[in-house]
Amino acid sequence: MYVVLAGGVGAARFLKGLVRVVPPEEVVAVVNVGDDLWLHGLRICPDLDSITYHLAGVVDPDRQWGRAEESEVVAGELERFGADRWFTLGDRDLATHLHRTERLRGGVSLSTVTAEVAEAFGVAVRLLPATDDEAETRILTADGRDLHFQEYWVRERGRPEVAEVSLADARRAQAGPGVVEAILDADAVLLAPSNPVVSVDPVRAVPDIGATLQQTPAPVVGVSPIVGGAVVRGMADRLLPSVGAEVSALGVARHYADLLDGWVIDDRDADLRVGIEEELGIETRVTDTMMDDPEVAGALAATVLELAAELRR
Ligand code: GDP
Ligand code: CA
Repeated sequence: MYVVLAGGVGAARFLKGLVRVVPPEEVVAVVNVGDDLWLHGLRICPDLDSITYHLAGVVDPDRQWGRAEESEVVAGELERFGADRWFTLGDRDLATHLHRTERLRGGVSLSTVTAEVAEAFGVAVRLLPATDDEAETRILTADGRDLHFQEYWVRERGRPEVAEVSLADARRAQAGPGVVEAILDADAVLLAPSNPVVSVDPVRAVPDIGATLQQTPAPVVGVSPIVGGAVVRGMADRLLPSVGAEVSALGVARHYADLLDGWVIDDRDADLRVGIEEELGIETRVTDTMMDDPEVAGALAATVLELAAELRR
């Protein structure tokens, strides 16, 4: 069984590759909930939903998040009441939020309703929220504001200068059911090529998860989300400097150095390999990590699993 520490789109693309080379029943994704928010009375879980929609094959192929063939009739009608449409709410997507919110209000945990949503979409990968607690990532800006991560990222498009990424709520949270056991029993723990600062760090900031990652006998192998000194998609490059990390495959490896046994970087970064191995003592492999083609994603997953198998010996 393989555990993948996951954010949203980068993780979803990697998981699509992984299930080409191992049965989905053998994959457990421990998913970031730091992006989750309340909006119009609904609980929205962007990273869980991105992964569900990708694995179910219903994701919007252009945006790489949200549902394909989506409309925004309800969001348009909400404008009548003065709602600001900074956060996209698709009509199909709303059904997921409505179901989740009704169940949460009925006292069911996020992990239970996540399993229900996955099953309804025919997703066989086990999706475990990092925590059932509300543990939202906050962005403290240089101009003195305390923003929800989504307000910073989506509404303000990542423009404000960041003074601090606050994971205080994650640090007070309890690991979701099954997470600790999965990390201890795993054949390997894989770090998806997700945003290190606001996807993977909020997962490992949950104290039980961070401690278990140090204890597990499983090798930990990651894939770099940074290729050629830039992000593949998104804006992860804006946040790495705010935690003192260089925007490179080496910088991210340093950021994860306490955790990693193995690291997989892109062909374009081949010249960093020797430096990473010498400086950090992390076994490094070089391959194509640009997962636009599902076959490349599958080959990348196979490389990651081979490295993990070597590190187990
Ligand atoms: P988000 O929560 O939707 O932003 O998604 P994640 O945190 O999972 O992933 C965002 C990161 O994924 C960005 O830093 C991207 O550079 C990275 N990413 C996306 N697609 C790819 C890809 O095909 N290859 C690699 N190496 N990284 C990718
Ligand atoms: Ca996210």
